[in-house]
Amino acid sequence: MVIRSCNLETVCGPTSTLPKNDLPEVAFAGKSNVGKSSLINAVMNRKSLARVSAQPGKTQTINFYNINDEIYVVDLPGYGFAKASEKERERWGKMIETYLNTSDMIRAVFLLVDIRHAPSANDKQMFEWMDYVGYDPIVIATKADKIKRSQLDKQIKILREGLGATKDTIIVPFSSQTKQGLDTIQDFLAQVIEN
Ligand code: GDP
Repeated sequence: MVIRSCNLETVCGPTSTLPKNDLPEVAFAGKSNVGKSSLINAVMNRKSLARVSAQPGKTQTINFYNINDEIYVVDLPGYGFAKASEKERERWGKMIETYLNTSDMIRAVFLLVDIRHAPSANDKQMFEWMDYVGYDPIVIATKADKIKRSQLDKQIKILREGLGATKDTIIVPFSSQTKQGLDTIQDFLAQVIEN
């Protein structure tokens, strides 16, 4: 996929009205610090359009990146930030829920989980919820450079079981450092654009 242009077009806070877009949307969700900004930057082939933060839990907005005037990459707020108040957590959950429930243009939903750990209760809840609203979430197992190749199958199994995913759920190992898995993710986007 050749990135000719990409712009952060809309930023929605908890009280903003979501945009009515007429291009297909692909959404990325995951707990804070999972590597979502790094992945989005890699997909867009930009160093720092999506903010990679040393301070987890800062992004509380839904960000719509227009790529090539062909597709929106939608960056959902990172959840599960330990220091967040109950109220903040509720707000993030609501934002994600409202977006997934109201946008007509969502064509793919990606859930990012850290390849090194068993999924958290929040990850599982998010997976179940995406499934419940009718999407087949594609799981991206981030920070794949942090494990040995020989551990890969075992970690993928832990993720699949922990999320309650079926054998049909696609799990893509990904690393923003080595770019492992980037082609696969870009192929998904290209497919969405073609259909
Ligand atoms: P976000 O909060 O989900 O947007 O996560 P970020 O993209 O900001 O990344 C959180 C931290 O993990 C940063 O210190 C990144 O440098 C690091 N990180 C992100 N992706 C990877 C990866 O693929 N491999 C490694 N080793 N570190 C990563």
